[in-house]
Amino acid sequence: MIDTRILEITAELDTAENIVIVPHKGPDGDAMGSSLALYHFLKNKGHKVDVIAPNDYPDFLKWLPGSEDVIVYESNKDKCDEIIGKAEIVFTLDFNHLSRCGLMQDSLVASEAVFVMIDHHQEPSDYADYTYSDAKMSSTCEMVYCFIDKLRAKKDITPQIATCLYTGIMTDTGSFRFSSTSSDTHRVIAELIDKGAKNDQIHNNIFDTNSEDKLQLLGTALKNLKMNRDLRTAYISLSQEELDRHNFKKGDTEGFVNYGLSLEGIIFAVIFIEKKNENIVKISFRSKGDFDCNTFARAHFDGGGHINAAGGRSELSLNDTIVRFNKILPQYSEELKK
Ligand code: 5GP
Ligand code: MN
Repeated sequence: MIDTRILEITAELDTAENIVIVPHKGPDGDAMGSSLALYHFLKNKGHKVDVIAPNDYPDFLKWLPGSEDVIVYESNKDKCDEIIGKAEIVFTLDFNHLSRCGLMQDSLVASEAVFVMIDHHQEPSDYADYTYSDAKMSSTCEMVYCFIDKLRAKKDITPQIATCLYTGIMTDTGSFRFSSTSSDTHRVIAELIDKGAKNDQIHNNIFDTNSEDKLQLLGTALKNLKMNRDLRTAYISLSQEELDRHNFKKGDTEGFVNYGLSLEGIIFAVIFIEKKNENIVKISFRSKGDFDCNTFARAHFDGGGHINAAGGRSELSLNDTIVRFNKILPQYSEELKK
């Protein structure tokens, strides 16, 4: 854990008026949950706070309390640049390299604000003035809870804050089943329920709001699933044409990669998703046990993340990306067969 004087931020917080909170590009439940929890916490303390997401996020997160106040950088660049220019403190949540902010990176680099990182990914870079980084944590939401606790402010956790934090812990732990889920995670979750998080409603809002298109797309994804039993690997691909055919909306492929991992004997699962407008293939990696997705994604697909969950990208065609992946895989034969 790196915890560079995180409590010294209290002095900065006492004087700061304008605060900006930034989740990573392609924000997920943990990024939005942690950002909005911190948003409510700081706003309730009297600060002027803006959450600026680098780009839009899935509809299944838009019920989160405070979601209506989130500004999307890609569609409000000038306004966001002005807000970032005035910020005295910038909190960056759920990422540890400014390159994870997409177009927003330049504006952040130019800012003279004090930067605070709260994040649970491996290998943090050193852009922040205050770094609270712990790769053992289940989620950034669990860390925001600990941050509030360190500030001795647990009494200020409202039902809204509890709801946001519960959501991010739940999504990042695959509903409390990944190995990152510790007994402390469960204790935090218990407290969040006591503070007003409605666990049944949150699960319903996230998991039981599928569209018919999304389920049909899942059918296509499962038909495309391929297995390399020898190397205990399964992968799925979705072409742009397949996405279009099912009226793909942001978030519709969330969780698909886990189906590969649910196969008996499979410890490494991958999904390749063609993104024609960006000219890339977006890749998600998931593993069980010791197989290190972070190292794999960093070494071959310009990405990163955690041991059991990472992401990356390829600028080759979908087909060539998969051919390349299958060529790389045997290099990991020893780790995959272990
Ligand atoms: P996902 O596959 O759900 O997009 O991401 C899995 C994990 O890897 C998340 O923790 C996410 O923040 C991280 N991740 C996804 N894409 C990238 C990437 O391109 N670079 C890095 N460094 N991390 C990523
Ligand atoms: Mn996270």
